[in-house]
Amino acid sequence: STPVVTTCGIAQAARAGLLVRGGSYLEMLGKIKKIAMDKTGTLTEGHFRVLNIHAVDNSADEKRILHWIACVENKSSHPLAPALVGYARLSGVEPTGDVTDFEIISGEGVSAVVDGHSVKIGNARLASRCGGFEDTRSQAIIEQCSSQGATVGWVVVNERVLGIFGVADSLRPEAVEAVTNLKKMGAQVVMLTGDSDAAAAAVHSKLGDIEVHSQLLPEDKVNLVKELKIHGVTAMIGDGINDAPALAVADIGVAMGVAGSAVAMETADVALMTNDLRKLVVAIKLGNSCRWKII
Ligand code: ADP
Ligand code: MG
Repeated sequence: STPVVTTCGIAQAARAGLLVRGGSYLEMLGKIKKIAMDKTGTLTEGHFRVLNIHAVDNSADEKRILHWIACVENKSSHPLAPALVGYARLSGVEPTGDVTDFEIISGEGVSAVVDGHSVKIGNARLASRCGGFEDTRSQAIIEQCSSQGATVGWVVVNERVLGIFGVADSLRPEAVEAVTNLKKMGAQVVMLTGDSDAAAAAVHSKLGDIEVHSQLLPEDKVNLVKELKIHGVTAMIGDGINDAPALAVADIGVAMGVAGSAVAMETADVALMTNDLRKLVVAIKLGNSCRWKII
């Protein structure tokens, strides 16, 4: 039977805005050694701002590029999508094209057929696979975006790079405090992201001494969590967008509540009912007190 203290702990957790799916997870929270954290939407707000969009090929101007972007991203649930569609709308471009064959390219971006043209939007890996190019103008744009810690995106139409854009996201206001306290409690914090080295470095510089892995595919996140588990009880916190498999493989999968996807909420062992990362610190404290009472 479940010890009384554990039941108390779950009720206490619920009052603190934490949904814990069983006493065993509460106990495990008290023994956490490693905390893997997704970047986009978890350490950061996941509310992107579009910094700039550039046409890099004479065959399409900025409006045309915004048309491709708006049509494809309108079908996407990635945190980048609403920012890009919103930016297009503000520039007077509505997602009115005929879109078919929408697909998510895991860890890279999205693709679809728009008005009969193949359109792919995503990161450097996607662009280089599609025969990305190295002209000096686009190189300068990429460097400018990267130096600000922005995420750079490529627009590839009919296997040709037509546009480049820069988007930026902000660190959650409580992220530094939360990470500092998690470290003080003896947990090792590891950031996992599918985003570029530059975007990861910008977040890293604000969070201090943590381990960082960037440019990961969803399966890389799974493998890294498996490796961390060898060294002790490992939690993974994410929003479920490209990290649901990693959440599932961790000893304790923690889902961001409001920002989290339905998949994250379903696979998670613990859910933060608000997106406040400091709840993770509260969860570990509750786990600690519960453990000591049982012993
Ligand atoms: P993260 O681990 O930071 O959450 P993801 O695995 O979700 O990153 O995505 C990896 C990268 O692929 C993103 O940083 C972005 O550059 C690109 N990407 C993913 N989805 C999209 C999209 N819908 N539109 C444009 N780029 C995308
Ligand atoms: Mg994510």
